[in-house]
Amino acid sequence: MSTDASEMAAEASPIGHGRLQWKILIGFIAGLAAGLLTYTFARDAAWVDTVVTYITGPVGQIFLRLLFMLVIPLLFSALVVGIAEMGEVRALRRIGIRTLVYTIIVSGIAVTLSIALVNLLRPGRGVDPAAAQELLAQGGDNARSIVQASTEAQTGISQLINIVPSNVVSAMSDNDILAVMFFALFFGVGLLLVQTRRTEQLKDAIEGVFEVAMRLIGLVIQLAPYAIFCFMFNLSAQFGWDLLVKLAAFVGVVLLALGLQMFGVFPLLLKFVARKSPLEFFRDTREASVMAFSTASSNATLPTALRVAHDELKLPDRIARFVLTIGATANQNGTAMFEGVTVLFLAQFFGVDLSLSDQIFVMLICILAGIGTAGVPGGSLPVIALILGGVGVPPEGIGLILGVDRFLDMCRTTLNVVGDLVCAQVISSTSSADLAEPSA
Ligand code: ASP
Repeated sequence: MSTDASEMAAEASPIGHGRLQWKILIGFIAGLAAGLLTYTFARDAAWVDTVVTYITGPVGQIFLRLLFMLVIPLLFSALVVGIAEMGEVRALRRIGIRTLVYTIIVSGIAVTLSIALVNLLRPGRGVDPAAAQELLAQGGDNARSIVQASTEAQTGISQLINIVPSNVVSAMSDNDILAVMFFALFFGVGLLLVQTRRTEQLKDAIEGVFEVAMRLIGLVIQLAPYAIFCFMFNLSAQFGWDLLVKLAAFVGVVLLALGLQMFGVFPLLLKFVARKSPLEFFRDTREASVMAFSTASSNATLPTALRVAHDELKLPDRIARFVLTIGATANQNGTAMFEGVTVLFLAQFFGVDLSLSDQIFVMLICILAGIGTAGVPGGSLPVIALILGGVGVPPEGIGLILGVDRFLDMCRTTLNVVGDLVCAQVISSTSSADLAEPSA
């Protein structure tokens, strides 16, 4: 996103307002408490079914459908503009390509790490299988009507081939998200290659679509406290206390994954590729980390990150400006990891067995989603809802994680921003020759 767009996006952030955060937390706790009481004292009462079928179920469904409705325009516009801007600075083309390659490789490492951890630690396993299956069956019907999980039936090589859509309109109507993302990337590359007045206008218009979609998601999110109450009620009335234990395990695995990337992968990149002391780097970037943690928005942290790159890390301005501006939307390691852990956790929770090819599908989407997720508080949520539908996990599951999302958002955003600074440091140290050339 350009800085203007970043600012607008930050304004239109899905769940950026403090009061809404509190309401969401209250909705979460109240729904959980009501559900646990029901589970403990009235597990088999007939009225519980009626409440779930006619009140709490439909409210949650409407909320999810509103989110789904906006996901395609949001993802498409974010990806197109993100890619198009990677090549915007013509003089920095080689740096642009290096940034793109770096982003894909490091996001790939991040997602692989997080998916390996969930498989190893299995935080979602062990809930009552009968209850999970029942919920899955209910949710599965709903999910199918919202998201036609076209990818479900495909395996192996055909899954790979289907990433390239033969008809982009039907890919969109099937909610075939990987195919739509592929088209968006391709379109973004096209916008890079043709730079005329009209393509500039087109890019502006697509950026406009992004801003409108963000604003509308912001409106839909106002319903979140009520929807979350309903989700939590439905889930905890069915799963009881198990739910709390699983949720704690989920938070633990997300934090562990983020920590490994931050204190394992990043120091290695700094030390061996950028030849910079990791300790010094972390000390220099403290200000940006604190800002990212407290705002939960990469875009809102951009000005601070730019200042840190200039004043503390002393990186060349041209590279820092380029890498950080793009990275605020496109290089989101923390987000990609979080999305991977969440989707697999919920699959385990609901007893959905994901084959190796399903997991590779999730990995690919998460790498792309790291590029396509808006750098604003809660930017991951609509993307996760869509991926869940794509792999046959009830999208209602998202209610389970919403209550703990703000805290995890703060942590993953810190990783996103530090990751951008690591990227800027690595690209600077490997691009000194390019910088010596006069700019075109
Ligand atoms: N809050 C994140 C960011 O701004 C995006 C997300 O994962 O929700 O970087």
